[in-house]
Amino acid sequence: ALPIVAIIGRPNVGKSTLVNRLAKDRQAIVHDQPGITRDRTYRPAFWRDRDFQVVDTGGLVFDDDTEFLPLIREQAMAALTEASAAIFVVDGQLGPTAGDREISDWLRRQQVPVLLAVNKCESPEQGLMQAAEFWELGLGEPYPISGIHGSGTGELLDELITYL
Ligand code: GDP
Ligand code: MG
Repeated sequence: ALPIVAIIGRPNVGKSTLVNRLAKDRQAIVHDQPGITRDRTYRPAFWRDRDFQVVDTGGLVFDDDTEFLPLIREQAMAALTEASAAIFVVDGQLGPTAGDREISDWLRRQQVPVLLAVNKCESPEQGLMQAAEFWELGLGEPYPISGIHGSGTGELLDELITYL
């Protein structure tokens, strides 16, 4: 079986957009609504010589968020237990939130390598500053990316495949 990469993060940070960019069949998926992913879906992906699967989890919602959605959280946790690596996606335009800190605290206790993707960083100069704010999450180097434009994803994937 191909290694699984779980895409984790709060609702609306851009997980589905990133998955659509990473997946081989990205043009085929049109039904996903912004902010809503109820089911785990496995999508074939590759980078350089590595084949893997990306799984788009629902937003990982903890108690301090306005919504509490145990099912979505359960699915994200289930996805992580079978994953070789995870990409934790955060919103670079918003900065670190209480929810991001809570998820990070949980992620640091898991046995899975986690890469920190600071999404919505379209501007290269601003992106570096936006990403730097996320060092405080304690998950190592924050990678500025834009899921919409694709910028920064190469560096992220180069690091990712070292764990697969
Ligand atoms: P999800 O809930 O985490 O799956 O997030 P989505 O992929 O559905 O995206 C949520 C919202 O953020 C949508 O309005 C997207 O258009 C927007 N978005 C996603 N990626 C980017 C990005 O790289 N840059 C910007 N500016 N917006 C983005
Ligand atoms: Mg989604």
